[in-house]
Amino acid sequence: APAVDQAAIKAAVDAAYAAVKGDTGGKNADYIPVLAQVPPQLFAIAVMTVDGKVYSVGDTDARFAIESVSKPFTASWLIEHKGADWVAQKIGTNQTGLPFNSIIAIEDHAATTPAMNPLVNAGAIATTSWIAPADEPKQRWNVINGILDAYAGRHLGVNETVYKSESSNYEHNRAISRLLKGYGVIESDPQVALDLYTRQCSVELDVRDLATMGATLANGGTNPATGKKVVSADSAEKTLSLMLTTGLYETTGTWSFNVGLPAKSGVGGGIVAVVPGKFAIATYAPPLDAAGNSVKGQKAMAMIVRQLVGSGVFET
Ligand code: GLN
Repeated sequence: APAVDQAAIKAAVDAAYAAVKGDTGGKNADYIPVLAQVPPQLFAIAVMTVDGKVYSVGDTDARFAIESVSKPFTASWLIEHKGADWVAQKIGTNQTGLPFNSIIAIEDHAATTPAMNPLVNAGAIATTSWIAPADEPKQRWNVINGILDAYAGRHLGVNETVYKSESSNYEHNRAISRLLKGYGVIESDPQVALDLYTRQCSVELDVRDLATMGATLANGGTNPATGKKVVSADSAEKTLSLMLTTGLYETTGTWSFNVGLPAKSGVGGGIVAVVPGKFAIATYAPPLDAAGNSVKGQKAMAMIVRQLVGSGVFET
């Protein structure tokens, strides 16, 4: 593939940043109390190409909780270790059409795939429960953190304030993990799975880290910054398929209609979108829409993609 046109990317990112910066739509997540306190005007965009070049603007040093953006990365580990068919059968691959923590979605599919898919809370808690389930919780956490670290190309720490805040408000997720244990799709202790999942969501990173994580998927599972293979090209591809299907929850259809890239959002305000074989775009802006997706992030990505179409960046 020809080198990606860095000047075209810079122009598109700068234009989107300037256009979207003043947008006041959306509202910080508040069901996790500390997320409501994050300054809502924070805004950053980063792009990393598969040759490891990064362009970023805005509050690029601001660290935020990864939240649900962690889900495709743990899913990729399970795909790599258990196989895509196993994950499809045990967890599922379909959109729920319902909010990310829906119990109704679980009950509706009790006879087939109650965990729905690895990118909603049910499937993500189930996914995490299958990561090194025979080990002690501390070892299991090291494996999970190690997955995220390998994608980011550096060690990512846990924001303990976010972790505590989430842990004291996770009764709904506890119900999900218990229910799924009853349906036989959670391995080992559901409380340990819930705790590991909550820690996983509390990992903090900046927008460049997130762009690197996405660029690793764009680059067939090999981190462009470190040169290290994290998962196989097949596992990376299957992970992107999940992101395309359900990365923005019940509004993934709208997202695909407007942007058309595999992506994942989180209630911390992050979104990562991937152009396979080319680059990844990461955005950070805390105010969310009703589905839990960053308002500025979605707008900026739509603008960047629209501007880049016709620039040659998408040509193979
Ligand atoms: N930790 C959050 C939760 O479980 C993640 C949700 C999200 O980012 N959509 O509710």
